[in-house]
Amino acid sequence: MTRQIVFIITVALTLGIFGWTILRIYSWFRITKPFPIGDYGKRFKMMMEVAFGQTKIFRLPFIGFLHAMVFWGFCVILIGSIEMIIDGLFNTDRILRFSGIFYDIVMASGDIFAFIIAIAILVFLARRIFANMKRFSGIEMKHVSHLDANIALTLIFLLMISLLGMNMVYYILHSQKTDFAGVYPISKFLTREFINIHFFSVPVLLNLYEIFWWSHILLIFLFANVLPYSKHFHVFMSVPNVFLSRLEPLGYLYNMPEITKEVKLMMNLDTAFSAPTENAESVVSRFGVKDVEDITWKNYLDSLTCTECGRCTAVCPANITGKKLSPRKIIMDVRARMKEKGPGIVRVGKGFDDHKALIGDYISPEELWACTTCNACAQECPVNINHPSIIVDMRRYLVMEQSAAPGELNAIFTNIENNGAPWQFSPQDRLLWAEGLNVPVMANLVNAGKKPEYLFWVGSAGAFDDRYKKVTREFAKILDYLKTDYAVLGTEESDSGDVARRAGNEMLFQMQALMNIEVMNRYEVKKIITCCPHDYNTLLNEYPEFGGKYEVIHHSQFLRNMINDKKITITDGIFKDRKITFHDPCYLGRGNGEYKAPRDILDAIPSEKVEMKRNKSFALCCGAGGGQMFKEAEKGDKEVFIERTEEAISTGADIICTGCPFCMVMMTDGIKYKNKEEEIKNYDLAELVSKSLGL
Ligand code: SF4
Ligand code: SF4
Repeated sequence: MTRQIVFIITVALTLGIFGWTILRIYSWFRITKPFPIGDYGKRFKMMMEVAFGQTKIFRLPFIGFLHAMVFWGFCVILIGSIEMIIDGLFNTDRILRFSGIFYDIVMASGDIFAFIIAIAILVFLARRIFANMKRFSGIEMKHVSHLDANIALTLIFLLMISLLGMNMVYYILHSQKTDFAGVYPISKFLTREFINIHFFSVPVLLNLYEIFWWSHILLIFLFANVLPYSKHFHVFMSVPNVFLSRLEPLGYLYNMPEITKEVKLMMNLDTAFSAPTENAESVVSRFGVKDVEDITWKNYLDSLTCTECGRCTAVCPANITGKKLSPRKIIMDVRARMKEKGPGIVRVGKGFDDHKALIGDYISPEELWACTTCNACAQECPVNINHPSIIVDMRRYLVMEQSAAPGELNAIFTNIENNGAPWQFSPQDRLLWAEGLNVPVMANLVNAGKKPEYLFWVGSAGAFDDRYKKVTREFAKILDYLKTDYAVLGTEESDSGDVARRAGNEMLFQMQALMNIEVMNRYEVKKIITCCPHDYNTLLNEYPEFGGKYEVIHHSQFLRNMINDKKITITDGIFKDRKITFHDPCYLGRGNGEYKAPRDILDAIPSEKVEMKRNKSFALCCGAGGGQMFKEAEKGDKEVFIERTEEAISTGADIICTGCPFCMVMMTDGIKYKNKEEEIKNYDLAELVSKSLGL
């Protein structure tokens, strides 16, 4: 009876403290902005795959395997913990035994998992204490972060030891009574190997059992109350965070409906007042994110879920090349700033001002401008945190509220606004790339009563960049060779707005989007082919919200389809003695999951193929995205394009193949920088196909 009362008081205290902590955290959620969710079926599938299936964890196979064992083990052991609480509350002994075989399976697997988890935790601790791993360092990883991790790991280790101890004593006790104790393979093995089961008397065993039982349950209660203050809060948060994480392709950026309304008004569009308003309550006093009251509840949930594992920072091209940006730091800063400012806002209201802000006091503009929006961080994060979206939200604040973009970006904003391209070319020159070719123009065809099947979206780089103009010409020759029914917009095409959006100028992006959509819808465009993965992503994923719904095909997909349909057959082996490596464009690969089409094309071209060490979803960015191509890189040890070119060169390939105008510029610069222009060539997929066809 006394035992039961003590236990009930302990449970009440545990729940009380835990509840108080959760209510405190919940009150900070209430000062955040809305974030729409829906499509629960898809979310459930993602949760089963990523959270319960631990699919992303396995991207680092060895340590991923150990972590998955810990996660799955926790799930099983949880059943035993629930049983202990019921036993404690109602003074019963192993109440769930009535379930027979199910109970035996759960107990047996719990026993095995306890042993595996203990070993895994020792490995984790050894790595943290002795291995000096780069992933666990960085300016955001203060002494307290390491201490926190080590304390939580030690608690888990003690939990497993107390569980095994409890099982062993339980087994001995029942063996002495020649009673069936249940199935505890590891405890049985350890007992038989190391302990004389007749050494202990029954009273001693009963006391020992009580000691292990109480140690284990008290450690659980302590652990539950330590977690919300620790990075190990992810034990609770990771499953819901994955369930609530975004469903859109990684390349997609969230819309700002409040900007749409302003842009439509500015452009005098009749539909000004029918702009999307689903987030009407989110209309804010400022654009973008300056401080924690501007973030969404999902941003805050992300920050609470972050395990500080550093997988994001370890793959960040900016961080790898010595820049200040660390995606893990961005997420940890959000959490720390909320902890600092949240109580003040809850107490005083939204007007609370402590004369500090997330941008400036925690995160510097230098960090924000170093991001290439390559999505390597988001791809890697085991709990589906999306870093680029909050980085761009902070850029939106800098650009639209502070006019504080780097000078070079301001120049490209002006160029896009005036010329419809990031460079200072006249819009009238947009079709000069096609000189000497018979390229059909949409307006002419439509005037002649024709409606082409495809729009070939050339893009700003395709129309104006000297190197990429050659690719555009080769692709147009292929379209001609295939007798494709297509047309270009010519001078009616304007910049897609991709760079403006990722550089934080949402207003300019939306103006470009609405203008282009108006033109394309007027021509009743249905299918679009483009060579640019950035425009592919923007047209496919971002234009639909503004009324531009098209079937968008990247030229690698189009060419692969033509090869599969035998409309392109490459018999001439002009590249047969060449070694080709493919650089995955971020916005085709990670952004939209297309890794196969480029490789299928290369497979159809007789030649030797070699992969870079970091390829497909692990590929390193070329360093151009997110507006980086148009500005000086932030201070670091190296430029990203040099790092990537060195990796490509180390494969021994004599052709670096790309499928993106930005990658083309960066890899060409990289080859020049390394003085390898004689030995190594940089070709687009379209050029390899067109040269192989002898066009
Ligand atoms: S998107 Fe790329 S550059 Fe930006 S933080 Fe993530 S990994 Fe780093
Ligand atoms: S954001 Fe994700 S990948 Fe980065 S440290 Fe946190 S949990 Fe790890």
